[in-house]
Amino acid sequence: MIAQQRIDDLLATKGQLLSVEFFPPKSEEAIDSLVSSSLELKALEPDFVSVTYGAGGSTRDRSSRVSAQMRDDLGFNVMPHLTCVGASKDELGEIIDGFYAEGYRNIMALRGDPPKDQTEFVVAEGGFAFATDLVSFISERYPDICIGVAGYPEKHPEASSMEKDLEHLKVKVDAGASFITTQLFFDNQRFYDFVEKAQKQGVSLPIFPGLMPVLATKQIKRIVSMCGSSLPDALDRELEKAGEDAEAVKEIGTNWALNQLEDLAKNGVPGVHLYALNRSDAAKTLMSAFRSKQSC
Ligand SMILES: Cc1cc2nc3c(=O)[nH]c(=O)nc-3n(C[C@H](O)[C@H](O)[C@H](O)COP(=O)(O)OP(=O)(O)OC[C@H]3O[C@@H](n4cnc5c(N)ncnc54)[C@H](O)[C@@H]3O)c2cc1C
Repeated sequence: MIAQQRIDDLLATKGQLLSVEFFPPKSEEAIDSLVSSSLELKALEPDFVSVTYGAGGSTRDRSSRVSAQMRDDLGFNVMPHLTCVGASKDELGEIIDGFYAEGYRNIMALRGDPPKDQTEFVVAEGGFAFATDLVSFISERYPDICIGVAGYPEKHPEASSMEKDLEHLKVKVDAGASFITTQLFFDNQRFYDFVEKAQKQGVSLPIFPGLMPVLATKQIKRIVSMCGSSLPDALDRELEKAGEDAEAVKEIGTNWALNQLEDLAKNGVPGVHLYALNRSDAAKTLMSAFRSKQSC
């Protein structure tokens, strides 16, 4: 088993980090094909990869298989995600014990979104209402686990205001987090404003910007409407102009993300987190660009 490194230790020793997020595919065959296609990312040395956790723990087994294969077959430093959805404190404790026993030393701690058949987040019996509770729980149980939490440059959709969301973020950070990864955004100014406001709120942790290359217009519109991010008019217009031309859309989306990445790297972000939607080709393009900026 590859020894897993804490992300805060990597930040201290390596400078700007690069990470890629994967979500567990629906079938065993698709998991194998994701893992083998991700092999080509190895040469670009992601500092860590993260593996999402499905609503209601629906992907729990597949998440853990993807994490194990990314770690053992590809040698990646892996951060499993964990949510509070549908699980009691005891059940979460068992999952965390399992992560620890398997050698993981980083966890992305989230409240989670409601499962598909529900419109609102419901606290599980004996479970947690907010990610903050999960952060405290993990940090008390395993002080040597490095905990990441989510931040929202355009506000979490359920928060009544940006100010309230930032107040909640500060409490979550103080519960024992070591870094923040943001929700995806397409306008870097939103990210810079968020970092400034978070710092004014007393949040001094590293904040990784989350970037998603647009790969298909309908898909990205669905994603932004769910997560509360916005598409800048200029990007929207370009995508509309490309219409059904899938290759043109991909090119527009990749170039947009490349411009964002270049600007973020220049402005000294602690690293970049790529939501590459399990597409190693898109991840590869963005990772190569980031690595070449670092070597300049
Ligand atoms: C980097 C990243 C990774 C993600 N990975 C996953 C994943 O793997 N699986 C998944 O299902 N989802 C994932 N999500 C989505 C995430 O679960 C949702 O955005 C969810 O709705 C909120 O999770 P959270 O951890 O930010 O919640 P919280 O930090 O708990 O915040 C949720 C809402 O509650 C409010 N709040 C917080 N504390 C309080 C309080 N004390 N009183 C009142 N209100 C409060 C906040 O302002 C916010 O509006 C991810 C999101 C990001 C940005």
